[in-house]
Amino acid sequence: LFRAPRKALTPEETAFLKVPNNASARASLEFITSKPHVAGTAGDLEMAEYVKTTFEKVGIAAVLDPQKVLLTYPVSSSLELLDVSGKMVAKASLAEDTLDSDPTTHTWWRNHTFNGYSPSGEVTAPIVYANYGLPEDFAALEEAGVEVKGSIVLMRYGECFRGLKAMNAQKAGALASIIYSDPEEDGYAKGSVYPYGPWRPKSSVQRGSIQFISLCAGDPTRAYSPHGMDVEKLCGFSSKELIPQIPVLPISYGDALVFLESLGGKEAPNNFRGALNITYRFGPTKGHYKVRVKVENRFQSSPVWNVIGTIPGSLPADLDQPVVLGNHRDAWVYGAADPNSGTAQLLEVARGLGQLLRTGWKPLRTIYLCSWSGEEYGLLGSTAWGEVHESILRRALAYVNVDTGVSGPHFRASGTPSLAQLLGDVLGHVQHPESKKPLSEHWSGKLYSLGSGSDYTIFIDHLGIPSLDMAFSPRDAQYGVYHSVYDSFTWMATEGDPDFTYHVAMAQLWGLVSLRLAGTHALQAPLPMNLSIQAEAIEAYIAEIKENITSLDFRRLDEASSTFKAAAAKTMAEAAHLRQMGQKAPHEEVTALNERVGLVERQFLLSEGLPGRKWFRHCLQAPGLYTGYAAKTLPGIYEAIQAKHWDLAQSQILATALRVEAAAAYLAPSS
Ligand code: GLU
Ligand code: ZN
Ligand code: ZN
Repeated sequence: LFRAPRKALTPEETAFLKVPNNASARASLEFITSKPHVAGTAGDLEMAEYVKTTFEKVGIAAVLDPQKVLLTYPVSSSLELLDVSGKMVAKASLAEDTLDSDPTTHTWWRNHTFNGYSPSGEVTAPIVYANYGLPEDFAALEEAGVEVKGSIVLMRYGECFRGLKAMNAQKAGALASIIYSDPEEDGYAKGSVYPYGPWRPKSSVQRGSIQFISLCAGDPTRAYSPHGMDVEKLCGFSSKELIPQIPVLPISYGDALVFLESLGGKEAPNNFRGALNITYRFGPTKGHYKVRVKVENRFQSSPVWNVIGTIPGSLPADLDQPVVLGNHRDAWVYGAADPNSGTAQLLEVARGLGQLLRTGWKPLRTIYLCSWSGEEYGLLGSTAWGEVHESILRRALAYVNVDTGVSGPHFRASGTPSLAQLLGDVLGHVQHPESKKPLSEHWSGKLYSLGSGSDYTIFIDHLGIPSLDMAFSPRDAQYGVYHSVYDSFTWMATEGDPDFTYHVAMAQLWGLVSLRLAGTHALQAPLPMNLSIQAEAIEAYIAEIKENITSLDFRRLDEASSTFKAAAAKTMAEAAHLRQMGQKAPHEEVTALNERVGLVERQFLLSEGLPGRKWFRHCLQAPGLYTGYAAKTLPGIYEAIQAKHWDLAQSQILATALRVEAAAAYLAPSS
């Protein structure tokens, strides 16, 4: 396998790395988190203006890009335990406590604990406990003879995207669902809770969207589309099929306790148990007690504001391959980690690029710096922009996402395999804030497959643009104050990144990746993508899916994979040769090579899309139908096997093989 030697820093890269600065990142974060900025609110617009002005100040032209979308805001909610006579015996607080040590917790948004896109409704029924709300959890309840139909399902956060918990509960016939944060996932079982440590305190609630994220991303009504883009035509589902039709309410473990204790029935198995000091039971509620849940949310179509900064490249438009950087700006309250650590980093990247522009530097390819809104409701801003500006993106080279830039010390990246070498290389040039060793020494070398849950989704899954997503986070866990009022500037400045050095490191990484992708004016060189790593990844996906499956014929896909591997090797050898020639490399040859290397990912898009969810078009990875966040590779084949739909699995093997063959032919047309 061909691996290029680590590329030394160019003078402009060295100059860039000096710019990101902890005091500056801290100041931007402090301003952006100074007030709540939920999508579509006045705070959202104010922070959009701030980002736009900051881009302009450093010499980057920027526009506001308003997109009309469907949003929901909380009006009121209640959750009560009723005895057999219907008398209320307990009531959930549904509010996050104020803290003297954290001034911004004194906001009325602390009472606004809700799930975006939950319909309004009132239900009185017994409750049952369905663990993470995965299909196998509902199967366990069924096996135990627990009646889910007609009840309220209580589930815990973790394992899968929350909207899919609601989807599974609704499918099982539940009338409402309640999702709580068990301390096992992100509370005291992990360590000290805020304000004594970074983990989730007793009254803290994880807000969040409950759209059915694995069926389609973006506004379920496509309200931004001037011609009333037909949702059903676009993704195969009506607006109603993309969000729950039963009320859903998130609660804290402080509030969940009394409801869990009210459960009777069989003791739940080990895997249903969390870290609360109780016996976890399936339910239903003991002694004919019932639960009354009431949710009132206001649905409203209104604009959210993306901000798009542009640094024009020096290539003519027909040869340009734009590089797109993105981070969302909207938050559930203050979002100091999610997403505004990433916003502060984006502004540091902008300052760095602005500095280079002032010295006369120009990128070879156009760079877009995007600050998305509406992400929290379901990737609304980025999806709208991607669908509306599909023509700009037709030739896009890559999308580089940072959402929660810093929530812990461990570097993690997901992305398209062809970008793995570039990332590894760049990590060698940036120091880990604590060890001061190159970050490459702290990286497992594993580039995870992209699932969903952030703004890269449209770029990779719908448009076939190579994408990367990077973060510093706790090892193997969601950080403790995620989607709560405590994800605040004070949390970041005391627990998350007190010195803001992780902010600096991520800005350096993000900028270097972008500089290497965008290139420098008048200096045409082979693109830094490694397609041999892509080929190895495809081989590994096939090997994994073949394990334990003997009833399917994989020959065509195996052959396609070898053909692609050979084409990739040939292309990479050509790239190495041209790279060695340096300035003397014939221009037309480099241009032709970059055209193929830069756009080959598009070949992996299935024109029909994935079976049953056609908005997702990439044949190599997609968010798992039942995981949402986590990826499945070869998703068309995988999901058909899961469903034991063997004919479909076989036809998906062929469909995938055809795309891999097309990619090989695109890469090395003559072979
Ligand atoms: N990142 C957000 C979340 O995890 C939005 C995901 C979505 O709904 O698409 O809640
Ligand atoms: Zn986020
Ligand atoms: Zn979020």
